Amino acid sequence: MEEIKTILLKHGFSFKKQFGQNFLTDANLLDAIVRDGGVGADTTVLEIGAGAGALTRALSKAAKRVVALEIDKTLQPVLAETLAGCENTEVIFRDFLKADLPALERELGAYRVVANLPYYVTTPVLTRFLEEAELCEGVTVMVQEEVAERFTAQAGTPAYGAVTAAIALKGEAVITRRVPRTMFLPRPNVDSAVVRIDFEEGRIPVASAAAYRAAVRCAFLSRRKTLENNLMSAFRIPRERAKALLSEAGIADMVRGETLPPEVLARLADVLHAAGIV
Ligand code: SAM
Repeated sequence: MEEIKTILLKHGFSFKKQFGQNFLTDANLLDAIVRDGGVGADTTVLEIGAGAGALTRALSKAAKRVVALEIDKTLQPVLAETLAGCENTEVIFRDFLKADLPALERELGAYRVVANLPYYVTTPVLTRFLEEAELCEGVTVMVQEEVAERFTAQAGTPAYGAVTAAIALKGEAVITRRVPRTMFLPRPNVDSAVVRIDFEEGRIPVASAAAYRAAVRCAFLSRRKTLENNLMSAFRIPRERAKALLSEAGIADMVRGETLPPEVLARLADVLHAAGIV
């Protein structure tokens, strides 16, 4: 779609690296991302980072309603042009990380997130949906390929980390497509991938989501240390107590946190919670 380039040029737009501005223009790819996101005629979509509006426009065609947040106000004239006629679509010029998510959710009702995320804030943006959102049904996001590998990693592999375990509480992360760097304007230094996470309430049952997050933080506190040692430093407890808690959770003494799948971290979280530690 040459059109986007022309519109950007016409409005004298200059790309801002600090906002992670790498735009998509290929119509087939945009439609494929909309399909990956499970967007249909009944779906309300929240997009983070409208950019020049190419994905916003593709979403608008398929969805019931689209609300897009965009931090960069200089995109206003560009978006006015690219989204002309998209009656079901609204752009709010605001930093998503500072936005009032509960208020936004009251406005939206149940919604799905579809976004080509600004790479410098991928994890904080995703974390807001994992930890704060109440009406989000799922998230489909373009991220750096390496980050996508982390989101979908198996326990015990080098890519498995705190973010993988945090995602697992809400849903299974699946890579739906890989996207080469050549598809972006301007071209970034890395390839990307689209990851879809459908949120399933109670997927991994835990007594407290906050306790699960604390257990995950503890497990990955120091990757080279045993979980026992991490428990001692994270919660300032003596070795004997740490051993007893691990044994109650059915976890071997010398294990490293990074080898534990989310279900086992959930067991640890429940034990820590019942013991009043988290
Ligand atoms: N959706 C467009 C596309 O696919 O072509 C643009 C994607 S671009 C990778 C990311 C967009 O997010 C940029 O337009 C950037 O200005 C915007 N952005 C960056 N940080 C943001 C934030 N904290 N809140 C809202 N938008 C943000």
